Amino acid sequence: MKSVAKGFVYLVGAGPGRADLITVRGAEILKKADCIIYDKLANPALLKFARKEAEVIGVPKRIGTYSVSQDQINKLLLEKASSGKTVVRLKGGDPGIFGRCAEEITVLAEAGIDFEIVPGVTAATAAAEYAGILLTDRQHSSQVVFVTGQEAKGKEKSNIDWLLLARFRGTIVFYMAMGNIKLIAKKLIENGMDENMPAVVIADATFPTQRIVRGSLRLISQECKENKVEPPAIIVIGRAADSDKRFNWFTKQQLFGKNIVVTRDACGNAEFAGKIISRGGNPIEFEAIKIKPLTNKDRFLRALAKLAEFDWIVFTSSNGVEIVFNFLRSLGKDARVFSSVKIAAIGSETAETLNKFGIKADFVPSVFTSRELGKQLAEFTNLKGKKVLLLRSQLASDELVEWLKQAGAEIENVPVYRIDTVKSKCNRLIENIKSGEIDWLVFASPSSVRALFEQIQVGIINSSSAKVASIGPVTSEQLRDFDIRVDLEASEHTIDGLLDAIERSCRQ
Ligand code: SAH
Repeated sequence: MKSVAKGFVYLVGAGPGRADLITVRGAEILKKADCIIYDKLANPALLKFARKEAEVIGVPKRIGTYSVSQDQINKLLLEKASSGKTVVRLKGGDPGIFGRCAEEITVLAEAGIDFEIVPGVTAATAAAEYAGILLTDRQHSSQVVFVTGQEAKGKEKSNIDWLLLARFRGTIVFYMAMGNIKLIAKKLIENGMDENMPAVVIADATFPTQRIVRGSLRLISQECKENKVEPPAIIVIGRAADSDKRFNWFTKQQLFGKNIVVTRDACGNAEFAGKIISRGGNPIEFEAIKIKPLTNKDRFLRALAKLAEFDWIVFTSSNGVEIVFNFLRSLGKDARVFSSVKIAAIGSETAETLNKFGIKADFVPSVFTSRELGKQLAEFTNLKGKKVLLLRSQLASDELVEWLKQAGAEIENVPVYRIDTVKSKCNRLIENIKSGEIDWLVFASPSSVRALFEQIQVGIINSSSAKVASIGPVTSEQLRDFDIRVDLEASEHTIDGLLDAIERSCRQ
């Protein structure tokens, strides 16, 4: 019988929460995994790195020291690796810090399965830094200790040296301690720690839902109760916890705590959400539309066959560029098919996407609308008798065509994609809008507007406190056609421009 090659296990630290806090090595390894076994604390957004064929298994939270599920996880690791797979065991934070890594690698070592441990950003440092606390601020602390707060619970013989901790002149960080915070404070005070010692609890660290509760050791548990703080949370105790409030950079971000609904297609939403998260906001992805390529249709194929006849090709969206180039790739072709043609892009995002595929746009207007593209392109170059190919959405407006025709160009308008409405489940979103939890509803195209208001009554938005933001005049016009109040229109018609405008509005 042919023996199966042994697999390999990577124990990868996922980081403390926010998906982009994984290490570069961690992300690279996720991309090649055959099987990913991930913890509850690992951000599921990291699964975007997984290959389509990868098997993805979520393992539930473990409670207690010797839970059955740890055995099940060990067995699962062995089973998958023994069948020759590259397995990633994705763990919250750092695998070696309160991560039961030792149990898992013991099992692997005994079975002779090779492994690698990829460190991650642990919750203690991440939570502290996202709260503006430096664990070893040299003014206050030259030492730091990480302690588990679970141990305190009814264990006959504790491994925690409370007397030492109570006298510790440095910073103490407790993990898994929310259930025992009262007891922890009591033990420290009983053993001689100053009851006025600064203590800070940071929950949901690095997420848009992060919360910080400050207090003295005596009062911190009460404060947490009053503020209804829920795990996961870290407790930092010591002089360093009383940090300068100006260091609190994360929750100070303009978009922090803002719930922002994005309404594009799944891929566009994911990209948009990433940008919102990097500005501290909380994106809510509502898939309003789906983009269907039309590149396999005769019209596009005919245009492609005679590309050399055109003087200019115009792209009016990143989607159009992605779809055309993905299709070219499927044909084994690349940017060289455009070598004899000049290329115009509607704006900086489209130009950037072209760049990704090796093309530098020959023309980008100063204002990113169809109207300005047509008008400014006609000013930029003599279009009389020139053949212009428009590669756009099936629904694109006639305005661009009119301007180019007026300038004497001969236009061929070829749809490269279609936009379909997605029937999404709206009940939760409607509830959130009605209860005032949504700060912004954001629209980046007229099709998203139409798709959303096919599904949600206009009155629900207009009578709510949610504000409506639009990427540009065409989208705003569509909103007004639906009688929606437009609270903000971006002056630069890009996703970044839209977020800049929302930030400015939050500042006012
Ligand atoms: N290996 C992980 C810790 C696992 S123990 C690491 O290195 O971070 C789980 C504990 O980590 C939680 O009970 C909580 O104390 C802490 N934790 C994990 N993620 C957190 C987050 N986003 N915010 C605050 N604490 C977190």
